[in-house]
Amino acid sequence: MTNQGATGPQLYVPGRGRCAKCGFELNSVILNVIDGSAVAGNTIGEKCPNDGAPLWRVSYEDAYRELFEHSEKPFVIMAIVDRLREEEGATVAFCCDNPDFNGLPNCCVIYNGSATDWQDEHFRADSLIECLELAEARKRGRE
Ligand SMILES: [Zn+2]
Repeated sequence: MTNQGATGPQLYVPGRGRCAKCGFELNSVILNVIDGSAVAGNTIGEKCPNDGAPLWRVSYEDAYRELFEHSEKPFVIMAIVDRLREEEGATVAFCCDNPDFNGLPNCCVIYNGSATDWQDEHFRADSLIECLELAEARKRGRE
């Protein structure tokens, strides 16, 4: 698969296709037994083995976003939590997500430390990282 024909600035991961219905992913690789090389194959026209839906190309942007969600994001979250908790007696608590489309933020973190005068304070935003960054900004503002 080449990136020729890609519309706009999006570039696609060579040889990678995904089912929009179930999320199945196919990574197509062509092995050359004569020289031992391996190149990306072509998933255009391939069907999902689970439901027969067509496979869509995966953009580098989506691939990186998913990589961040599954690999780096937990470490970023824990690093911020550790910085908030380094003060003796400080507490960080996570509320459940707000699944309703009611205009309220999706996430909420409760932080309690000297920066909040040792009171529980709610920090609300659309992601856990944003909530933690708000709490950390409060902490930094008091340091
Ligand atoms: Zn599928």
